[in-house]
Amino acid sequence: MAYKGNIPWNKGLTKETSEGLRQTSEKMKGENNSQYGKRPWNKGLECSYQLGEKNPAWKGGKHISRGYMTIRNKQGKYIRESRILIEKHIGRKLDSREVTHHLDGDKTNNNIENLHLFLNQSKHMKYHFHLRSLVNKMLSHGGD
Ligand SMILES: [Zn+2]
Repeated sequence: MAYKGNIPWNKGLTKETSEGLRQTSEKMKGENNSQYGKRPWNKGLECSYQLGEKNPAWKGGKHISRGYMTIRNKQGKYIRESRILIEKHIGRKLDSREVTHHLDGDKTNNNIENLHLFLNQSKHMKYHFHLRSLVNKMLSHGGD
């Protein structure tokens, strides 16, 4: 588009407004890059904290999708194995707000001892916050 110079393209916008818009769209960009970006928060939450990315791979009938072990149900749909295992373990269906968490950080390690269930994402986040502050404490004491 040719810029004539005599008609400001942003006429009607104050400098502050356009600056605000620019910052907002840049913030959005950052959120899209995060690992939470595309997953709906209200649909089968699962811990997505990662210690290392694993490549998608087949492991006998099971499929690793985005680092999670998934299995195919009768409808041919892939579902997270960890959620199925916890449902079997506690004998009821999981609420969509409930978050499964892998204690050792390995999302393919679906041993029931490695799985933990949080009632909601806020409790899950609190746990990670606590964990991180513990690690920081250890690091600051471990240094010279
Ligand atoms: Zn977690």
